[in-house]
Amino acid sequence: MKKEIGFIGLGAMGKPMATNLVKKGYNLKVFDLRPEPMEELVKLGAKSLDSPRNVAESSELIITMLPASPDVEEVVLGKNGIIEGIRKSSIYVDMSTIAPAMTRKVGEALLKRGVRMIDAPVARAVKAATEGTLAIFVGGEKEVFEECKETLGAMGTDIYHMGELGCGEVTKIVNNFILCVTIPMIAEGMVLGVKAGIKPDLLFNALSQGSANSFALQSHFKNFVLKGDFREGLFPVDYTMKDLGLALETGKDLHVPLVLGSLATQLYESARAAGKSKNYFPVVVTMLEDLTGVKLRYAGDVG
Ligand code: NAD
Repeated sequence: MKKEIGFIGLGAMGKPMATNLVKKGYNLKVFDLRPEPMEELVKLGAKSLDSPRNVAESSELIITMLPASPDVEEVVLGKNGIIEGIRKSSIYVDMSTIAPAMTRKVGEALLKRGVRMIDAPVARAVKAATEGTLAIFVGGEKEVFEECKETLGAMGTDIYHMGELGCGEVTKIVNNFILCVTIPMIAEGMVLGVKAGIKPDLLFNALSQGSANSFALQSHFKNFVLKGDFREGLFPVDYTMKDLGLALETGKDLHVPLVLGSLATQLYESARAAGKSKNYFPVVVTMLEDLTGVKLRYAGDVG
């Protein structure tokens, strides 16, 4: 018998993740502050409820996919929160990207009631959430992880147990830190090359075969920057600032200097100052493009 699942937070990532659970035969109870995504899930066979508490009361495994730490705190520990309804035998799985300290706070509060929790934030983007091919980084007791593994497998293909509660979040924060710092670094190199007279697509093709090649170049530059596609509804600059902030806070707590991260944060802040908070985060390259008069845009055959 498949577990009864509760899913809270049906946004850009949560809606396709919940959809995959329904398609793979799970009974799903859903809640979001917005009615539209709940209605879409109901059409697919899920049941909508009117509070996190009610979702928790009728589910064996409760998943949240929420924006940030304060949202998770409110949904779990707040009025009509998960903690008021969850059964001792149930498990709480937070898949949002939040501060590891908040993960541990919520986990400790639940444990006092005898309830188990894992953190399972995800890497890769909306396309992977839709295709069920997310990478998932898990923190928490190994046995609790094993109990959740089949359900996580309905949403992702690469699932790693990283250590105790909070270690999934730490892994996710490091992953995003590296990616978000890499994007402006590639932009600086490419803008330099184009300003010096090389066509953007020729430069892209050459770098793809050189030692400067990277996932960010092949994914974010090839599919988005070179096409000038910085649309809203994907991973926005605001969430980049949240994740870089989480890395910088962690660095401060542990006395780890993050020089490049601090610089990159100011570049993303410039994008926010230019009114691009909701745009897809590689939009940060347009800050340097505007300063130099260079456009990193596809003009011929990139492939
Ligand atoms: P989103 O803003 O698109 O969706 C968040 C959803 O949570 C919205 O539907 C909102 O209505 C709902 N919500 C907010 N507060 C709520 C509350 N109190 N009760 C119920 N519902 C509430 O965000 P997203 O892009 O789906 O991202 C979710 C998390 O996943 C974030 O932590 C983000 O950093 C992380 N993430 C995002 C991506 C991406 O590409 N978008 C990739 C990996 C990880």
